[in-house]
Amino acid sequence: MDSSCSERTALIVGAGVAGLTAATALARAGWRVEVVEISASGSTSGWGLCLTGPSLRALDALGLADACLAEGYGMNAITQVDVRGKSAGQIQLPRLIGAHRPAMAGIARPALHRVLLTEAVRRGVVVHHGLTVTALDQEAELVRVRLSDGTERRTSLVVGADGIRSATRGLLGLRASLDRHGQMVWRARVRRPSWATGIHQFAGEPHTAGLIPISESQAYVFLAENGVDRGTLPASELAPRMTQLLASFGGWRGVQLSALLSESASASASPEPSASSERSASVVRRPVQTTFLHGAWHRGSALVIGDAAHASAPQTAGGAALAIEDGLVLAQELGRHRSVDAALKAFVSRRAERCRTLVETSVALVGLERAQRHDETYPLVDACHRRMAEPA
Ligand SMILES: Cc1cc2nc3c(=O)[nH]c(=O)nc-3n(C[C@H](O)[C@H](O)[C@H](O)COP(=O)(O)OP(=O)(O)OC[C@H]3O[C@@H](n4cnc5c(N)ncnc54)[C@H](O)[C@@H]3O)c2cc1C
Repeated sequence: MDSSCSERTALIVGAGVAGLTAATALARAGWRVEVVEISASGSTSGWGLCLTGPSLRALDALGLADACLAEGYGMNAITQVDVRGKSAGQIQLPRLIGAHRPAMAGIARPALHRVLLTEAVRRGVVVHHGLTVTALDQEAELVRVRLSDGTERRTSLVVGADGIRSATRGLLGLRASLDRHGQMVWRARVRRPSWATGIHQFAGEPHTAGLIPISESQAYVFLAENGVDRGTLPASELAPRMTQLLASFGGWRGVQLSALLSESASASASPEPSASSERSASVVRRPVQTTFLHGAWHRGSALVIGDAAHASAPQTAGGAALAIEDGLVLAQELGRHRSVDAALKAFVSRRAERCRTLVETSVALVGLERAQRHDETYPLVDACHRRMAEPA
């Protein structure tokens, strides 16, 4: 793909939430778009995520909210359960895509990825797997991009959407620190209990946990383990250790979180053909890390978006919303400005404060959880969702 004067071309690094939605937003605006994704298979890590109202609103603007709702599980409320196993309140979330559609949706990550990839390809975006960028040089109006297969592109715009450890950010010389916060987050897929029609968050001593439905039959349990943010465990120890950590939570309506996990673990260990990977209880564990790029997010006509520019802790469930909004706002600003440079400056000035607020709020929530000040997290979560409900 080489850009001529009349054609606007973009090369996007990373086929995650930010990269694929930016690709669709740009293709809709008439850009010719290529995406390079380092993973050969295009697989996603983690079981599921929550598409909060701002995510659904941004997906709706790309015509994708209904496909995500069809693949996921629509919800309207977060129920907070205190350390004694009693309800500490319920947050009703604003329905940002209309009174007759849900306020948010839980969805399996592979299902979300499928929806986003299908739409990008349908819009003419070319997606290469097993490919990455090795060098970027601004040459007048265009960026010369060298790729890991030895080929080159000259393109009007480069978008680094390659996640919290962004290589594009490094190639552009943009410095960001990756901060750890003394917390490890665990996730496992389990059966959805019939009462889990919204998000349930459980305050514990000393950890916190939650249950998020992702379909009629499935949900995922998450656990934020305090006091540890380094080291790995052998795969065989993950499910037993997570079950042990969940044992301190009382559960809800007679269903223990640890029992949900053990049930899934034994189903996946069973030799029965029906206990296939559909019911696998594989556990994912990773440290909570955040980053925020203070100052510029771009050099010349290349910029970073999504987690590459601003990665929040999972407590706010807002990272995907910001990533999807980034692509939409980028396409809007590129439509408003003649020069890419002016558009990128306008983009960053429109996005920075909102993204910084979410990252900082997520870090504050981790601190309150670690200090066992659960009562103070509830109003902060509520305020955060209200702030995010404001237009992007
Ligand atoms: C435990 C956990 C739970 C979360 N839960 C939620 C939630 O419920 N709701 C929510 O909104 N957000 C949630 N988030 C945040 C959300 O997952 C991220 O904010 C979102 O995925 C960011 O999207 P992204 O596309 O910027 O980055 P990523 O999703 O990380 O995608 C980056 C892509 O770039 C590719 N890539 C990486 N390096 C290169 C390279 N050098 N070249 C080419 N490609 C490359 C990767 O393979 C990947 O496909 C959670 C995060 C965590 C850690």
